[in-house]
Amino acid sequence: MTIPIDWRAEAARLTIRDQAFIGGQFVDSASGETFDCISPVDGAVLARVAACNAEDVDHAVRAARAAFEDGRWADQSPKARKRVLVKLAELIQQNANELALLETLDMGKPILNARNGDCRAVAECVRWYGEAIDKLYDEIAPTPKTALALITREPLGVIGAVVPWNFPLLMAAWKFAPALAAGNSVVLKPAEQSPLSALRVAELAAEAGIPPGVFNVVPGFGETAGQAIGRHMDVDALAFTGSTEVGKLFLRYSSESNMKAVSLECGGKTPNIVFADTPDLDAAARGAADGIFYNSGQVCDAASRLLVEDKIHDAFLSKVAALAKNYQPGDPLNEKTQMGAMVDQVQTKRVLDFIARGTEEGAALALGGKQVRQETGGFYIEPTIFDSVQNRMTIAREEIFGPVLSTIVFKTPEEAVRIANDSKYGLEANLWTNDLTKAHRIARALRVGTVTINSRDGGGIEVPFGGYKQSGFGRDKSLHAFHKYTQLKTTYIQIG
Ligand code: NAP
Ligand code: MG
Repeated sequence: MTIPIDWRAEAARLTIRDQAFIGGQFVDSASGETFDCISPVDGAVLARVAACNAEDVDHAVRAARAAFEDGRWADQSPKARKRVLVKLAELIQQNANELALLETLDMGKPILNARNGDCRAVAECVRWYGEAIDKLYDEIAPTPKTALALITREPLGVIGAVVPWNFPLLMAAWKFAPALAAGNSVVLKPAEQSPLSALRVAELAAEAGIPPGVFNVVPGFGETAGQAIGRHMDVDALAFTGSTEVGKLFLRYSSESNMKAVSLECGGKTPNIVFADTPDLDAAARGAADGIFYNSGQVCDAASRLLVEDKIHDAFLSKVAALAKNYQPGDPLNEKTQMGAMVDQVQTKRVLDFIARGTEEGAALALGGKQVRQETGGFYIEPTIFDSVQNRMTIAREEIFGPVLSTIVFKTPEEAVRIANDSKYGLEANLWTNDLTKAHRIARALRVGTVTINSRDGGGIEVPFGGYKQSGFGRDKSLHAFHKYTQLKTTYIQIG
């Protein structure tokens, strides 16, 4: 029998790393400034974290550059880098309870989601890229016999990574794992709402054998630390995950500085299309509910637009509404809780404003809609369902990033595709039908990076993930992620 974990007692014992990690050491910000890291679980101040600005970013980039230039990591054999990353994956697994607690306290997700979802996926991601790197071969081009042309992939140098708070460590790992595996140095800025887990992982990376300067973490604000990375003249590539609005700023930072390569993984407004011929409507309803209420809907590919065929509208919506009750917000440190807190007060207000806007524009509030658990000092919103939504309404167009479902009715497959594609976003779409031909036809017509059929599962680390349109460009996960962290070199040898 496993002994149940007293998460509150564990939380009381936590040692929180609150300094920046630069050149292999924890250091204060150059200005000495800090910012309060507030837990959305109960509104308590968890830590006062180093607020890095342009000077700290410059220190980190210099450390990263020096490490790259002297080859302490880049020149290690792929097998040697593999060993270190596999060791890091093991350390992440061994410290999963601590890392999960940091995620839960910092951004409010249920503790078991953090441990069994996020932390497991982070360890798997780091191991996967570690294991991949000594199995990749370069190319030889089909030249005349008188020449030999080698096409080799080389690391870029210094990678800047700026990430959001919804899966703090996982979004960071999708960047730093392939970037490090390829031999680069990394300067990572976690979101201001959730810097704690990345700081702890930087320490574990050092313990695993990542040399000083190769992996740096600069907590701080977007406008200061984030912008300084985006505009730094000695950062070779910038990998961003976050909102479309901020993603666009990084394109500008690049054009106004050194033309660094930018890859953007931005927002989404996933259409979840349910046809009357769906083989298992209960599974589809579970997918619809989990798709919007998991992580309080703070998920880039949250199934936020439910497109349901008119014939099954009433029956299907009552199934989803019944399941929604399981996601009544609870204490994130209680293992039974299915839905925890919103990340902070700002996001809570933003979501409540969208809910008000939905009602104003004529959508029918079918469930929830209110802030709850205010007595805790934390930030919680009920699972919320809107019916009778038109795709032109704000709640169908904007990414709400909260537990708010917009239900839209369609009659024909053509209409479903038209509504699904009528969005500035194109990250993902979900499709439920028994008709294989229809599924294939629609999957091709959808302008999105991932289509899932008869499941919400879009695959693990082995498949690419990223957007069409204003959901961004560039792909995280899979071997394709290496494109962002390497460049091609042609070496043409005359031998005739
Ligand atoms: P965000 O506001 O765009 O912030 C993302 C990161 O950018 C944070 O580290 C943030 O720092 C920084 N930042 C903010 N303003 C900046 C500026 N002016 N210059 C430079 N950096 C700046 O996004 P978020 O609210 O953290 O996360 C939610 C968004 O992420 C959603 O749109 C979601 O769809 C998207 N997302 C996409 C994916 C994907 O794979 N496509 C995955 C997860 C999330 P601060 O914390 O200080 O603001
Ligand atoms: Mg926080």
